[in-house]
Amino acid sequence: MVPDWVVYLLAPFIGSFLGVLIRRLPADLPVGNARSRCDHCGTPLGPRDLVPLLSWLLARGRCRHCGAPIGEFYPLVELAALAVAVWAGTLDAGAALWLDCLLGWGLLTLAWIDAEHLLLPDVLTLPLILAGLGAAWLLEWPPIVDAAAGAAVGYLVFRLVALVYRRVRGRDGLGGGDAKLLAVAGAWIGWQGLGDVVLGAALAGILWFVATRPASRDDGRPMAGPAELPFGPALAIAIWLVRLYGPFLGL
Ligand SMILES: [Zn+2]
Repeated sequence: MVPDWVVYLLAPFIGSFLGVLIRRLPADLPVGNARSRCDHCGTPLGPRDLVPLLSWLLARGRCRHCGAPIGEFYPLVELAALAVAVWAGTLDAGAALWLDCLLGWGLLTLAWIDAEHLLLPDVLTLPLILAGLGAAWLLEWPPIVDAAAGAAVGYLVFRLVALVYRRVRGRDGLGGGDAKLLAVAGAWIGWQGLGDVVLGAALAGILWFVATRPASRDDGRPMAGPAELPFGPALAIAIWLVRLYGPFLGL
C-alpha cells in the first residue's frame, strides 16, 4: 500500500491538472497536454516553471521571462487541492483517504466550473458516479446496493423536481447537471444520506445567495433570484460534509 504522505505530495500537482480542467473544459479545449506556454509572452514553460505553488512563490507570481503577472488562479487551485487532502486526512487513512480525495478533487473542480459558467460537465459527473460505486464496492461503505440505489434515486428525484418546477414556473430552475451531481451524492453516500445532502445544499445555497446578493439595484430591474445562481457549489460542499462526517453523526 502507498503511504498516506504521498497523497499530500501529489495533491498540488493534481491541483495543477484540476486548474487545466477548470480553464479548458468549459471552453471545449483539449485537456490532454499540460500548460505549456506563458499566456502573455508565449515562452515555453519548463519543468522549473511548473512546480505547483513553489514556482509561483519563487517567481513572486510573475513570468520568469517577461515579468507579466501570472495570476493567482493556478496557485489557488493547487492550494485548494492540498486543503482537500489535508481535510480528508484528519479523518481517513489508507484506501479511504485516496478515495475521499478523489471525490473531493472532483467536487472542487465541478464547483469551480459551475460557479464560473453555470455548467456541470458530464465528463466529470459521470465518471464520479462510477467512482462512487467502485469506492462503495472496495470499502464496503455505503453498502453497494445502497450506493446504486442512491445514484438512481438522486438522479430521478432531481429530474422530477426540475419537471415540476418547469410546469409551475414555466422555465428551468434546475439543470440536468444538478441531477447528475445528486447521483454522485447517492453513489458516494447511499440513498439514506440524500435528504441531508439536499437540506445542507439548500442551506449553503441560501447563505451563498445572501452573501453575494447586491444590497440594492438602481436600474429598476428585478433582483436575480436563487434559480439563476449555480447550485453546484452548494451541492458539492454538502456532499463533502455528509460523506466525511455522516458516519460520525450516525447518518
Ligand atoms: Zn511571459
